[in-house]
Amino acid sequence: MNFIKSFHIVSKELKRFDTNISGITIEHLINTMLKVKNMNAETILFQTLNRQKLRKIGVLPSKLYQIEAIYNKDGTITAVNKVDKKRVNEINKVTLIIKKEIVPLIDYIKKNIFKNKDIMSQELVVNEEDNVMAKCDLSTDDAILEIKSFNSNIDNFKYQLYYESNNRDIYILQTFWKKRELYFKIYKVDPIECSEEEMLKKRLSKYQYKIALKSNVTIQILSYTDDSEKVTARCLLCKHEWTNRRADNLMERCYCPICKIRC
Ligand SMILES: [Zn+2]
Repeated sequence: MNFIKSFHIVSKELKRFDTNISGITIEHLINTMLKVKNMNAETILFQTLNRQKLRKIGVLPSKLYQIEAIYNKDGTITAVNKVDKKRVNEINKVTLIIKKEIVPLIDYIKKNIFKNKDIMSQELVVNEEDNVMAKCDLSTDDAILEIKSFNSNIDNFKYQLYYESNNRDIYILQTFWKKRELYFKIYKVDPIECSEEEMLKKRLSKYQYKIALKSNVTIQILSYTDDSEKVTARCLLCKHEWTNRRADNLMERCYCPICKIRC
């Protein structure tokens, strides 16, 4: 993850609200300022159809109190329930301060990350091969930007980024608070950080499959990285393990050195 740019706001009136409402409103504000095309209708349609094919196994508990709100086009929100009205007014006051101050951030995202192209929010990416779906915060055909409102290790969401990106450039916008200050930090993610492990897994299973066919399922592959690298293989007949042969060589002459069963 390489740091590329940061923006920073200070104001006596800045305030972070508890639960995740600050994160949600900042994301909504950024969306409205970028004039994104919201893909949520398509996403929800797909998810609804998909859900009909699934069996519900349970619900994860959530301790967060969610304010029910309508998301307005100017970046503010409107409370649905009367009890939340006062709080929502305070939130909107802060949102409008942030709105004035983040114009340079918005310009940077538009020009430098998305190259002035039309930006989507909530785009759904479906990988049929792996049976995985992922939703992008912001995206175009060339890049995705994931907004994180808490400090999180990339290891915790690298698979999400891998599927979301679908070979596009990956950026992260991290927002964090320090009392009356709000920071925005933009990082570019090296795709290797997200995809290397996945690629290795895929390569290994492809090679395993081919060797299984060639050896009549008598040879198992425990590790494989590349055709020109040595593999760890195991004979299922005599349990012998060896690591001294290259992958392409084993594929060509596929036998266990102990049993010498040529396939
Ligand atoms: Zn053997």
